[in-house]
Amino acid sequence: MAYDLVVIGTGPGGYVCAIRAAQLGLKVAVVEKDKTFGGTCLNVGCIPSKALLHASELFEEAGHSFARMGIKLGEPKLDLPAMMAFKDQGVDGNVKGVAFLFKKNKIDAFQGHGRIVAPGRVEVKANGGTQTVDARSIVIATGSGVARLNGVAIDEQRIVSSTGALVLDQVPQRLLVVGAGVIGLELGSVWRRLGSEVIVVEFLDRVLPGMDLEVGKQCQRIFQKQGLTFKLSSKVTGIDTSGPKLRARVEPAAGGAAETIEVDVVLVAIGRVPYTDGLGLEAVGVSRDNRGRVVVDPHFATSVAGIYAIGDVIAGPMLAHKAEDEGIALAEILAGKAGHVNYDAIPNVVYTFPEIASVGKTEEELKEAGIAYNVGKFPFMANGRAKVNMTTDGFVKILADARTDRVLGVHIIGPDAGNMIAEAAFAIEMGAAAEDIARTSHAHPTLTEAVKEAALAVDKRAIHM
Ligand SMILES: Cc1cc2nc3c(=O)[nH]c(=O)nc-3n(C[C@H](O)[C@H](O)[C@H](O)COP(=O)(O)OP(=O)(O)OC[C@H]3O[C@@H](n4cnc5c(N)ncnc54)[C@H](O)[C@@H]3O)c2cc1C
Repeated sequence: MAYDLVVIGTGPGGYVCAIRAAQLGLKVAVVEKDKTFGGTCLNVGCIPSKALLHASELFEEAGHSFARMGIKLGEPKLDLPAMMAFKDQGVDGNVKGVAFLFKKNKIDAFQGHGRIVAPGRVEVKANGGTQTVDARSIVIATGSGVARLNGVAIDEQRIVSSTGALVLDQVPQRLLVVGAGVIGLELGSVWRRLGSEVIVVEFLDRVLPGMDLEVGKQCQRIFQKQGLTFKLSSKVTGIDTSGPKLRARVEPAAGGAAETIEVDVVLVAIGRVPYTDGLGLEAVGVSRDNRGRVVVDPHFATSVAGIYAIGDVIAGPMLAHKAEDEGIALAEILAGKAGHVNYDAIPNVVYTFPEIASVGKTEEELKEAGIAYNVGKFPFMANGRAKVNMTTDGFVKILADARTDRVLGVHIIGPDAGNMIAEAAFAIEMGAAAEDIARTSHAHPTLTEAVKEAALAVDKRAIHM
């Protein structure tokens, strides 16, 4: 049977695209090589990592802050298999949810590895059998895989990627994290809370590259207070696996004398690369850039008519909601509507404690673009709710156009920053001014009042400071 649309990959890009297209009346099929739907995000990414971040945060709170609130429990004990089962249950619920939504929207699912054999035709191979799916349009939503470190073989036992770090069967005494990006800091935080001594090696001279520099510096200080050790401007050049301990060779990024660090587990978290293995792109002539990303135009069309791509496999931030937004926009375009993604309003969240969240431009980007801006900053130290909860680390920073007051960037370090950034993303999407946020009523006592105060501070009229 011929479909209007076949989507290869059922991560947040692919499954959302398929559902939106079906809502709009298109006849849709999906192809997935893994046993469960949901892609990296639901199976080995966002969802399991957030389950472990949540559980390990409560474990740490139970040990450190319950007593001062008058809750006496004694020393909390870790039951790691139970915590892993909690995580797996959360993943299971989510991936089953996608299967349910496919059925509800009458989307046909083909389990197996998809290969584009010609425009309009995908071959699906599973268990020795081959099926052919014909469709007017093909969407590549095959996502990304783990970036490898030269000379370091990931065995997912002692030298792990994020996937292995989500299923360790015991708490490593010492954990070396290679890469101080989002995944390294999140999973480093999980294992530190559960008892590991964590050392983070980063090639650049800062943590969270790409985020606002002031935010990066402040969160490094907070993580150091929590017990993480950072070795910045350094690189791991090899790991000796012959003994009971791993011996990692760490050198200054610029070259120089190497030191050896002995650890039990190494987590390689240096980024992710687009995944297009066995997809047949060369044969059909789909162009990729020098980083292996599928090249698309502003309507997600590749170099071959009728073949489109979205999500981690194309350029842009490797984030689940970016993939979802692209999936919706593309489905709407294919249904004859006007789909669009505003790349200036995509929030970015690091789910550590405190959380770190940003949307829009950083100060560095504004300076480079020569855009004059005003800064409004408000610390959680001066927010009533944060004070009473004793979670006062961090601040809200709003960057507004000096001429028009339009909000250009918002950066938050603080409890629940990941939820609070939604207001800022909405403000940017609506083209709001800092004054608009300042004049919006924010419930008291909430952490969101710090956003309002930062907006007031743009005009130097914060009340509680
Ligand atoms: C540890 C970790 C934590 C993360 N946390 C967050 C977070 O908190 N928030 C956030 O926004 N992002 C997070 N991400 C990133 C997020 O997971 C990705 O941005 C997102 O999954 C990309 O979605 P996608 O649909 O493009 O691809 P994916 O989710 O990678 O899905 C691609 C799918 O395609 C399938 N596939 C590939 N090739 C074929 C083929 N030839 N035939 C059939 N099927 C194929 C794959 O099996 C997979 O199911 C995290 C990532 C990791 C690794």
